[in-house]
Amino acid sequence: MPELPEAEVVRRQLETCVRGASIHSIWLGRDDIIRQGRESLSWYEGSQIVEVHRFGKSVVLECQRDQDQRYIVAELGMTGLVLFQRESAPSDHHIHMVVHLNQESPEALHYWNARRFGRLSLLDSQGLEAYRSRRFGFDPKTMSEEEFVGMVKQCRGRVKTLLLHQQRIAGIGNIYANEMLFQAGIHPYAQGSRVSVKRVQGLYKAMKEIIDEAITRGGSSIRDFKAPDGTPGEYQTCHQIYQKEGRLCPRGCGTAIRSLRAERSSFYCPSCQKR
Ligand SMILES: [Zn+2]
Repeated sequence: MPELPEAEVVRRQLETCVRGASIHSIWLGRDDIIRQGRESLSWYEGSQIVEVHRFGKSVVLECQRDQDQRYIVAELGMTGLVLFQRESAPSDHHIHMVVHLNQESPEALHYWNARRFGRLSLLDSQGLEAYRSRRFGFDPKTMSEEEFVGMVKQCRGRVKTLLLHQQRIAGIGNIYANEMLFQAGIHPYAQGSRVSVKRVQGLYKAMKEIIDEAITRGGSSIRDFKAPDGTPGEYQTCHQIYQKEGRLCPRGCGTAIRSLRAERSSFYCPSCQKR
């Protein structure tokens, strides 16, 4: 958390509210928050934000100055937030970067993260390309059904582990993986290559539907997630299985939801999700 839907909510708000704005100045709370490109910081002052991208769970500001393009990459990771108002932050002392803008509202972007080391990168086009290819697999929003089925059917490990493997498919975390597997009726420990094509297609459909619905509802506000304007998401009220251990299966099969504690928690219905 945040996962793809939350990162996409952030991207969309930034696109609406700061695309076209120019950067007045950038304040850094600590130097070690920048993984790469610290020396290029002054280049950004006076540049214009021309586009906002998302790769997996990272949000990227594309900046332009003269004919040159550079990028500010903000990893949201498990706890990261990008906020318009300082007051929206869960605490003041984890604000690691403030981008002051030459516009009235919002007049700044605040990057907050309880985990601090190396969560921001300042990259040129080449650097961004290397960063992308190193870290991000398929994007669930653009991946085709054929690509998805091929990836799962080739997997000798657990389907859930594959869904969480960012270099294979980027942006899905524990919450949405649990929800998707429940909707598709697949056990979290099922081995990818052994799941029928029909069920894998069902998983693809579940992935698309759940991600789209979660974005529409502003994401899930687990662990303090907020959109840049400070509004919490509401998709957590739609969760069917995540953290519902002991409750009856929402499909009405009469079985209680169980959890598996190995790795990160998996929640599943023993009747509806056979191995
Ligand atoms: Zn059930």
